[in-house]
Formats: sequence, structure tokens, C-alpha cells
Amino acid sequence: MVEENESWVAGLRSVKARIAQAACDCGRSPDEIALVAVSKTVPTERIAPLIVAGQRVFGENRVQEAAGKFPALIARHGPLELHLIGPLQTNKAREAVHLFDVIQTLDRPRLAEVLAAEMARAGKSPRLFVQVNTGEEAQKAGIAPSETEAFVALCRERFGLRIAGLMCIPPAQDPPSPHFALLAKLARACGLACLSMGMSADYEAAIQLGATHVRVGSAVFGARAGPVAQSDQVIER
Ligand SMILES: *Cc1c(COP(=O)(O)O)cnc(C)c1O
Repeated sequence: MVEENESWVAGLRSVKARIAQAACDCGRSPDEIALVAVSKTVPTERIAPLIVAGQRVFGENRVQEAAGKFPALIARHGPLELHLIGPLQTNKAREAVHLFDVIQTLDRPRLAEVLAAEMARAGKSPRLFVQVNTGEEAQKAGIAPSETEAFVALCRERFGLRIAGLMCIPPAQDPPSPHFALLAKLARACGLACLSMGMSADYEAAIQLGATHVRVGSAVFGARAGPVAQSDQVIER
């Protein structure tokens, strides 16, 4: 059992070492980069050893799945920082505000309005990232790059929301670096400090271009099976 748990945290240790190396290679401090361990489809028995090994930040792409897994882990292991990285339907906003510390997928005015109301009601303010559809893909969630500044201003001025940063998922077939550079440029234009970009295949490139949050699943936990293997998001509105 002990041996098995060691192999379950080997991925975590290797990703942490590579993050540190990538940061040093471009003159950044590894402390500037948060590893969001993406635990979608991963059962709690495989998440717990990582918590014991010191990982406290996790990402899930579905509210329901996170609600089924994390309250028990938090009760057992103490506070964790939970990020929602999948699309959020407005009818799940209340539960999302309750459960998550960070919502990375704010992508439309109606959701901003509902989140503002739910945050006021709950007296709890998860940190918010705006998702940008840098590849302007029809099937992907996110604000168009050209509309990002106006949307961030709307969130701030009309809904009184504080926005922490921007998030993107580059098109699977593109080299990711131009998308990361575009996201960094948009964040500068909006005066935002945080950049959530980079997944298992490309987090080192993202760190080079300024990522403050990398969302890494399969390189930490091993390959996922089944229909959620893709990082492409299913948009349900
Ligand atoms: C699944 C997912 C990830 C992690 O993908 P890996 O390639 O397994 O690292 C990151 N971001 C989002 C939005 C995802 O859905």
C-alpha cells in the first residue's frame, strides 16, 4: 500500500520539479506559479495521497463531480483550494460559489450577473478568472479576444466583481505559445495579474510566457479513460 501510494505521487513530484526548472530557466521564482492538479475523473482514493504529500490546490471541471468528492476530502484533510475549470451553468452558480475558491470560467454577462448575486447572498467571494477563447473556436467557451477588455470592464463596473486574471485553453491542433502570448497581452491591457494557462503537454511553455496558474491533469495522475479525456469543454447553457 505504501509503495502504491509512492507511485501515485511520483507524477506530482516530477511535475513540481519541472515547474521549478521551467521557472528558473526564465528567471522567475517557482513560488510565482501555482500548480492546479486537475482531478476530474480521478477517484478520491487517488487524490488523498497527493494531499498527504502536500498538494492543496485542485481543479475540477464539473460542479456535481466536485461536490461528490471534495467535501469528504476537506473534512478529512483540512482546507484545500478548489478551482472550477469547466463551463458553469447559471443554475449551478449557487453551488459553485459555495464549493469553489476560484472560478476560472466566467465567460458571459449573464453569468457575471448571477455570480455577483450569489456571492452577495452567500457572503463569499471566490476569486474569478475570465475565460478567453483565444482560438475563437465555435465549440469552445470563452470571451472573444477582441471583447475581453470590455467584458472585464463590465464585470467590474456593472456587477462590482473583482477579476483576478484570465484563463485560456488553446485549440488542440495549434502550437500553444501564440495563444499564451495573446492571453498575457490581454491581461496586461486589463491590468490583471493572474494567468491560468498550460496543461500537461505545454505547461513549461506557458510558464515561459507568464503563467501564474498551470492546470495539469494527466501528467500528475496518469492518463484519463473515457469521454472526459479531452480538455475540450462541453458547453451546456
Ligand atoms: C482536463 C483539463 C486540464 C488538464 O488537462 P491535462 O492535459 O490532463 O493536463 C486543464 N484544463 C482544463 C480546462 C481541463 O478541462
